[in-house]
Amino acid sequence: MQALVFHGPGDKKWESKSDPNIDNPTDAIVKIDTTTICGTDLHILKGDVPTVTDGRTLGHEAVGTVVGTGAAVMSVGEGDKVLVSCISACGRCGYCKRGMYSQCLNGGGWILGHLVDGVQAEYARVPFADNSLYKVPEGISDEQVLYLAHILPTGFEIGVLNGTVKPGDTVAVVGAGPVGLAAIMTAQLYGPGRIVAIDMDGSRLERARQLGADATINNSSEDPAEKLKEMTDGLGAEVVMEAVGIPATFELCTELVCPGGRVANIGVHGEPATLHLETLWIKSITITTGLVDTSSTPTLLRLVSEGHLDPTGFTTHRFELNEIMEAYDVFADAAHTNAIKVVLSS
Ligand SMILES: [Zn+2]
Ligand SMILES: [Zn+2]
Repeated sequence: MQALVFHGPGDKKWESKSDPNIDNPTDAIVKIDTTTICGTDLHILKGDVPTVTDGRTLGHEAVGTVVGTGAAVMSVGEGDKVLVSCISACGRCGYCKRGMYSQCLNGGGWILGHLVDGVQAEYARVPFADNSLYKVPEGISDEQVLYLAHILPTGFEIGVLNGTVKPGDTVAVVGAGPVGLAAIMTAQLYGPGRIVAIDMDGSRLERARQLGADATINNSSEDPAEKLKEMTDGLGAEVVMEAVGIPATFELCTELVCPGGRVANIGVHGEPATLHLETLWIKSITITTGLVDTSSTPTLLRLVSEGHLDPTGFTTHRFELNEIMEAYDVFADAAHTNAIKVVLSS
């Protein structure tokens, strides 16, 4: 088969590789029908994720068709159309039993395209198939559910649920990339009063409006703290989500939150940020962090199949799977191509 293989920082190839086999009775083999590229893949290619080693097939978001299962797999079988989640779960450990699949103690968590070969390939082995694959409801297209593999549950669980968005809340989302946009889309499920998207890129802010933001602040030309205060009687937002992952944006979030409010950090940080306790101690705020568990995936699948969520608006570019090298170039150059998500279909 062909696969997108990592060969160290800055080096990837679409190359031939042997087909995956069932290594454990809990494995399934999935033919990849539709996949996408993630910001995490770009981090890996920059060398930011040293646990990814030479020879690893990248990718952790896909929709495919089951072509084989190990003897212990009960819930999916040959021919089933499935969503491959970015998080694998043993289903048996203490964390999995609490629905915290990201912290699985038996070799689950984020492993696809990280510690085991991923899904940017013609075929993939999916460990713990019973707890890591979700049957796609009839009549739903691959693209309608593809983003439920990672960005939708991330924005929803780590942004909206951790931030406990409530009816009437002002919700500020700092960073209108794929995950910030996913938070904007799913925050609407809770009837907030106003969603404010904050980013430095005008085209991303425009997309944020299309996906449900009520107001936007371009922090390359406007002071976001000042602007948000104007909108909220000088108080700030009840819920502020950090969806960038740098110290400046985290610190901005703690400036934007109103007394009694919540800061939900979604961004992946590589450097320490300053926590200004000298001003925050008196504000009664809550700060949360998290890695997506994908425990909300069944709920999100139901919302898609019942027509309450349409994530296809994240797609900006479409390619054939074998054009993946070009797709990487387009996705990595988002400042010029305005790419949010690229869809690769086999
Ligand atoms: Zn991803
Ligand atoms: Zn587990």
